[in-house]
Amino acid sequence: MDFSEFDFENRIVDSSLQYNDLGDGGDSENSLRPRTLDDYTGQKKAKEELSIYINAAKLRGEPLDHVLLYGPPGLGKTTLAAIIAAEMGVSFRVTSGPAIEKKGDLLALLTNLSEGDVLFIDEIHRLSHEVEEMLYPAMEDYAVDFIIGKGPAARSIHFSLPHFTLIGATTRAGQITTPLRDRFGVVLRLELYTPDELSAIIKRSAGILGIDVDDDSAYEIASRSRGTPRIANRLLKRVRDFAQVRGDGAIKEDTARGALSMLEIDELGLDNTDRRMLSAMIRYYGGGPVGLETLAATIGEEAVTIEDVYEPYLLQIGYLSRTPRGRVVTRMAYEHLGIPYTDTPQRGDESGDGQLTIG
Ligand code: ADP
Repeated sequence: MDFSEFDFENRIVDSSLQYNDLGDGGDSENSLRPRTLDDYTGQKKAKEELSIYINAAKLRGEPLDHVLLYGPPGLGKTTLAAIIAAEMGVSFRVTSGPAIEKKGDLLALLTNLSEGDVLFIDEIHRLSHEVEEMLYPAMEDYAVDFIIGKGPAARSIHFSLPHFTLIGATTRAGQITTPLRDRFGVVLRLELYTPDELSAIIKRSAGILGIDVDDDSAYEIASRSRGTPRIANRLLKRVRDFAQVRGDGAIKEDTARGALSMLEIDELGLDNTDRRMLSAMIRYYGGGPVGLETLAATIGEEAVTIEDVYEPYLLQIGYLSRTPRGRVVTRMAYEHLGIPYTDTPQRGDESGDGQLTIG
């Protein structure tokens, strides 16, 4: 979960940044993580499926099959992986794709596991090719061959491994190779949360942090959290600061609305970066279609950041649509930004025939 090498801005609504990345003091996300499946709000489908597989594996007295979790950052993949380990009653080991640099690193991790343990690899799409190839036999046969030494002195040593459960997390399933994906028995997609679900998460977090928040304010924060628990928790903390300085510390009536507008987060959870991206698409490309790389260059952002962090929510609320020829800003987004839809000259993209279907 180390995104520090990415060139993100310090956006408060950035789902991939964690509190500590924002210099947010000591409280880590860990204190807010639900520990059981029952306590884990939302994701009904994934939870239902998982609870069947967990119960079945427990009945058979076997480890759980390997699980791949995918979905945008901050939706609860790490949290769910830890819950799976807890429900199975086994140890939980955490690492990430970029942290496993060499085959030897993976070997050390694997040989330290006990029977049934969960090994969680975050950002599994960022494993190097050689490490990924070593993972195949480990997942399939619970054994790896490791070559020691070089040249004529080289010899291969066979390691038998305990039956472990690998849980991989990635922001998009399309980012991982087919051979790796095929080795996961269970593939689950996490969805953006509804405002009601996020309200419940905010009230739960407020309870843990000792924050007094009324129902309307929880809903107000929830509806501006881009469907993402990590953002909901972060906004809750920022609104608390505001409530403490400007009021008696309780989040009620207009505190949430006032704090969020001070942070320039609108009723839909869009911030200046979103508005800047949508306006740039309208101003320079007539609303699109505009290719991902072109858009990335225009707003000075990485294509992967646009795809993983900005876009999922804008697509979900219907402000962007994805066409084979690129991204298109929809009429709703024009209206939200107060830009007249019909007056905008419509230009095609580089390959463009100018035919737009903006709905
Ligand atoms: P990811 O691994 O997908 O980036 P995390 O599991 O780290 O996301 O979750 C981010 C934060 O959001 C955690 O601190 C956790 O408290 C909170 N969270 C995520 N999902 C839920 C949920 N279903 N219910 C309550 N809190 C959640």
